[in-house]
Amino acid sequence: MIIVNTMMKIRKNSLFPFLHGGHDPDMNTDEYFIEVALEEARLAYEEDEIPVGAVITMGEKILARAHNAPISGNDPSAHAEILAIRKAAERIGNYRLCETTLYVTIEPCVMCAGAIIQARIPRVVFGAPDPKNGAVVSLYNILEDGRLNHSAEVIGGVLGDECGEILSRYFREKRVRTPCI
Ligand SMILES: [Zn+2]
Repeated sequence: MIIVNTMMKIRKNSLFPFLHGGHDPDMNTDEYFIEVALEEARLAYEEDEIPVGAVITMGEKILARAHNAPISGNDPSAHAEILAIRKAAERIGNYRLCETTLYVTIEPCVMCAGAIIQARIPRVVFGAPDPKNGAVVSLYNILEDGRLNHSAEVIGGVLGDECGEILSRYFREKRVRTPCI
């Protein structure tokens, strides 16, 4: 009984490592933050937005987290990454987000890759690739194009199945036809 209680305590604490100190030992740091981004994607799903979530960290601290909101805000630029970049920049009082990592459940699009360059984010980790919109490995390699004045380390495929599944579920179950797609 004591062992069970201890295990439950550890599992519960592992969901809030910044409150209790330390990550789940079974989960590496990138997986952990993609899981947080997935929580944001689930919020977008509940709001009938395309379920994409993003998190920006500095060291092991979360600076900002956000999810897609273009439909509810009538704002085509309200992608999860853009909203997280705005929040993080405001939080640190700097339009450059040096020494941060951006985590996002789906490969960034052209617009978001551009914003990542403008923000000078040095590291991007994403979940599932996006063959129709992806601008960092699928269609373009904007973040690794030496002609631009900034490049970023890109890591893809972290919890990719989970990140892609919620998107597939959205398009299968919720997608309302829009005239321009
Ligand atoms: Zn985007």
